[in-house]
Amino acid sequence: MKTALKSITKRLKADGIRTKLGKENWCHSTLESILTNEKYTGNAILGKTYKPDVLSKSRQKNDGKKAPICCAENTHPAIIEQGVFELAKKEMHRRRENAENQIGGGKYSSQYPFSGMLVCGICGSKLRRHVRTMGSGKRTASWGCCNRIVNGRSECNSHHVNAEVLEAT
Ligand SMILES: [Zn+2]
Repeated sequence: MKTALKSITKRLKADGIRTKLGKENWCHSTLESILTNEKYTGNAILGKTYKPDVLSKSRQKNDGKKAPICCAENTHPAIIEQGVFELAKKEMHRRRENAENQIGGGKYSSQYPFSGMLVCGICGSKLRRHVRTMGSGKRTASWGCCNRIVNGRSECNSHHVNAEVLEAT
């Protein structure tokens, strides 16, 4: 997902297209907000945020329960065609799902003797082989829970297993 957005931001810069603030470097989140904001299609969703009361300074996200949400069509000229907007939305969704499925699968599946065979005893995610360089400069391979590698210790408090120890076992 991010790599796709990054390559588009590079193209925009190369083509000399500036951001709304006149900057030549595009942030991928700016691009993502354009691709996911229905205003660019000429439609508007009204009431996405609301003020809880007249004295409140900040607006809050509206889930539709506290204030009405309505969709107004053709409120202004479209920059992105509705069909193209829908396609971009579908493509982003597809890539996100692909990325999620790849955690513990896909490209890590059959490279090493234990690939795809090992499962984390704590959370059940697949284990992934990775190589770390120790303080001494020595490189050691170990197997660790994908969930922990990607999402951190708070998600799974498992330990890495040294590849040599594993192979000996
Ligand atoms: Zn785990």
